[in-house]
Amino acid sequence: MICLLVILAGVIFVWKIDTAAFFQGATPTRSSSATSISAASSSSQAQKEDTLPNVSPDDWELVLVNRDHLLETEPASLTSIGDIQVDSRIAEATNQFLVAARMIVPEEILISGYRSKTEQEQLYNDRIAEAEASGLSQEEAENLVKNQVQRPGASEHQTGLAIDMGEAEGQLDEVAEKIKALAPQYGFVLRYPEGKSEITGIKFESWHFRYVGIDSAKYMEEHHLVLEEYIALLKEKKQ
Ligand SMILES: [Zn+2]
Repeated sequence: MICLLVILAGVIFVWKIDTAAFFQGATPTRSSSATSISAASSSSQAQKEDTLPNVSPDDWELVLVNRDHLLETEPASLTSIGDIQVDSRIAEATNQFLVAARMIVPEEILISGYRSKTEQEQLYNDRIAEAEASGLSQEEAENLVKNQVQRPGASEHQTGLAIDMGEAEGQLDEVAEKIKALAPQYGFVLRYPEGKSEITGIKFESWHFRYVGIDSAKYMEEHHLVLEEYIALLKEKKQ
C-alpha cells in the first residue's frame, strides 16, 4: 500500500512538472501580454476573445446554477469518492485534485459533493431555524442565510460538479491559496472568490470548487472571471 502511494505520488509529481513545463513553453502570448501594458490596455478585449476556449455555454460542465438559474435536473450518474458523491464524469479529476491538494496538506478531505434537492432543502431549513432560534425574525434569518446556503434548486451541489474541500479543523488562508492555485490544472475553479459576491450572490468561500473543464478553468483564472461573467462572455462571442 505504502509502495503504491509512493509510486502514485511520483507519477503525479512528474506529471506536474511536465504540465508546468508545457504551459510555460506553450503560452508565449501570456507573458508578452502581461509585460506589454500599453498594448494590453488597447487590445485587451480583442485578446480576451481571441484566446477564449473553444467551448459552448451549453456544455454540461458549464451549467450555470445560482439564485437566478435554478436547476431542475439530476446528474445522470454519480460516483462515490470516500464519503461524498460527484457526477461520474468528474470523478477522476476530483481524485487527482484531492491527491495534489494532499501533497500540500495531508489532512485535506472532501467535505461535501453532490446534494439532492431534498438534502439542500433540509440544510437550508435547518440554517433558517438555527438563525431564528438565535432571536432573528423570519425575514432577518432569510437575509442572513441567503449569502451562505442556497435555496433548493439554486445550489451548485445539486449538479454533482461542485465539491467542498478543506481540512476538518479549518484551513489557513495561505494553504487555501496554494490549493486554489492548483485547481485549474484539474479543471476546477474557486467558485466564490473574494470581491465577486455581488455577482455570484455568495460570500467568499475558500473551500467550494466547481468543475468547468481545464481550458475554461485556466481562462477564468487568468482573467479573474467567475462563472456568471465567463458564460456572459461566451454568449457574447456566439452572437
Ligand atoms: Zn459548497
